Amino acid sequence: MRAVDIIIKKRDKGELSKEEINFFINGFTSGEITDYQASAWAMAVVLNGMTLRETTDLTQAIAHSGEMLDLSDVVVIAVDKHSSGGVGDKTTLVVLPVAAACSLPVGKMSGRGLGFSGGTIDKLESIPGYRVTLTTEEFKKQLKAIGIVLTGQSVDLAPADGKLYALRDVTGTVQSIPLIASSIMSKKIAAGANAIVLDVKVGLGAFMQSLDEARLLAETMISIGEMAGRRVKTLLSDMNQPLGYAVGNALEVREAIDVLHGGGPADFREHCLVASAHMLLIGKRADSVEQGRVMAEQAIQKGSAWEKFHSLVMSQGGDVKVVDNPDLLPAAKEVDIVNSPRSGYLSQIHARKIGEAAVLLGAGRAQKTDLIDHSVGIVIRHKVGDFVEKEAPLFTIHANDLKSFEQARTQVLSAYQYSDKPVAPLPLFYN
Ligand code: URA
Repeated sequence: MRAVDIIIKKRDKGELSKEEINFFINGFTSGEITDYQASAWAMAVVLNGMTLRETTDLTQAIAHSGEMLDLSDVVVIAVDKHSSGGVGDKTTLVVLPVAAACSLPVGKMSGRGLGFSGGTIDKLESIPGYRVTLTTEEFKKQLKAIGIVLTGQSVDLAPADGKLYALRDVTGTVQSIPLIASSIMSKKIAAGANAIVLDVKVGLGAFMQSLDEARLLAETMISIGEMAGRRVKTLLSDMNQPLGYAVGNALEVREAIDVLHGGGPADFREHCLVASAHMLLIGKRADSVEQGRVMAEQAIQKGSAWEKFHSLVMSQGGDVKVVDNPDLLPAAKEVDIVNSPRSGYLSQIHARKIGEAAVLLGAGRAQKTDLIDHSVGIVIRHKVGDFVEKEAPLFTIHANDLKSFEQARTQVLSAYQYSDKPVAPLPLFYN
């Protein structure tokens, strides 16, 4: 078999066999198949797609490109959650402690942000000392001891995805349902998940811009899960405007802490309760979504979810004084309010533009190797549908230099659109 023949076959709209897919992924992982060949192949997949059978074989090949974590000696059902990526999405920081507080053990490996889309691991690193790299042994030990682990993606799991994703990011080949579905599902399968809640984001700040595309991605991942013997629940959630108010690492940790204390923005809190309810259902701790939701609400009200977050931070070496007093989180030098240039109903707060403004401030990376500034970001004050008076506070920028402040200010202002007529609020979830 030759890599070039597999590329040509996909270029010419052929269907790859399982053997061809395994050959290609194994060769790419070992370095025998070069980055330029993998890039050409990925572009052929973007343009010509894959059948469900090919996508499932690709998922398995990527999942088996490294170690396969087996959590069966630690938990009865390994439940995982994954968001397809968005702006202001700090859901994991709340949902994991809530699930763990409801006696559902959860060990999760999360990713870093890239481009406009944030990552849980970057957010957690706002907490001084928090360790995001654990050995498999440490991961299992902590999961058994306290029922919650939140760490970075192990380089030993699905290494083909790490390599391929880095290439896709710089070759215009992220946007492909078979490639996204196999990337997400391979990591979940390799991490030992038996049941997975997938939060598929749709809208201006998501990889899937239309509901039809998001549905297709969700269906593809459900089918892959079924074929791999895993239970998958997908949620379709809005990512036209940022989730909650805060965008930026330490600012988002603070907002997650607010929700764990029973406060926080209504949309973000609601999103967390729904996602938690589905985790509790799929993890067999609740008999219905309704019951799961009540359990999640109680875990927040009684403070047990907060206690789980606290022990998570302590167990992974984070400074608990900082989460006890979020004023100690990294803070930017310049914190300035920007007022509304006009009055009207907000008809758009373009999530991608806000995410890009956060990157301009230093909250995200333009390149994988860039260092990030945990203190900076944007806090919006309203949601789509709200009426705003001229000169009323519209958003706050947290910056560490005036140049990036000005750039972000212009960018965030361009994210807003107004209407003179009332505008309906955006839904949180779609069917
Ligand atoms: N998230 C992933 O893990 N992979 C993709 O390809 C896109 C989003």
